[in-house]
Amino acid sequence: MSIVTRFAPSPTGYLHLGHAFSAWTAWRRARMAGGRFLLRLEDIDPVRCRPAYAAGILDDLAWLGLDWDGPVRTQSAHMDEYAAVLADLRGRGLIYPCFCSRADIQRQAVAAAPHGFPMGGPDGGPLYPGTCRDLPGSVRAARAHEPHALRLDMGRAAIAGLTFREEGAGVVAAGPAAFGDVVLARKETPSSYHLCVTHDDALQGVTLVVRGEDLKPATHLHRLLQALMGWPVPDYAHHRLLTDASGRRLAKRDKAATLRDLRAAGIGAGAVRDWLESGGSPPGAG
Ligand code: GLU
Repeated sequence: MSIVTRFAPSPTGYLHLGHAFSAWTAWRRARMAGGRFLLRLEDIDPVRCRPAYAAGILDDLAWLGLDWDGPVRTQSAHMDEYAAVLADLRGRGLIYPCFCSRADIQRQAVAAAPHGFPMGGPDGGPLYPGTCRDLPGSVRAARAHEPHALRLDMGRAAIAGLTFREEGAGVVAAGPAAFGDVVLARKETPSSYHLCVTHDDALQGVTLVVRGEDLKPATHLHRLLQALMGWPVPDYAHHRLLTDASGRRLAKRDKAATLRDLRAAGIGAGAVRDWLESGGSPPGAG
């Protein structure tokens, strides 16, 4: 089977060296094996994503010399596909509408566990205490016009015995139940990262998901979605996150050296590629 990898950035900023490392790693894995490398823009969040960033990402990858196969998939153009998955899950009674605000959830979690509420959702928030899980049908119908999220009913949806393959670690047991009733569609975005990424990896025939290790925990949930939807299961290769000279993770918010900045400072794509090839150790660390 030929290898298919992808780079799936969210256009909420310009690419920094951490993204470049991820893209380059996925690109190289595909190219070394004579496989395919895909580019996907995960732009479902209309508030944070900007067309200028999307254009900048394509431009920066081309500058770096990372070519992708086939058309770029832009998630915002496929919202109906994600809605169909949600409708399917809803028809099977596996998701339910949730009307709680973030503040409500925080309050409910504190009330349920005053000495420290369990954190642990895949996105780092408090575990959802389940307030809207068993709302009577009449209440749901009456509130249907109100903005609401859609949550997975983990108690019904969880499947025991799921596994995935992680490079370097072998077969890993998937434990999504620990995340509780995760959000699969947000109030403000009629879908979620978890649903869209899993759907698209399946649709696009991705065989090896290469991404940063910050997304490793989410893989447990992705594996469950694959099982619920009958989607194929790719292998995973989560790579370490690049840090700056002081050991801090490179992040958009810090305006970590973007490829744009480096280019403007006269640094060539070849130098950046050499640096990526050498493992991307922080400048001054080696
Ligand atoms: N869109 C996600 C991000 O930019 C990455 C998705 C993935 O590689 O699974 O963080």
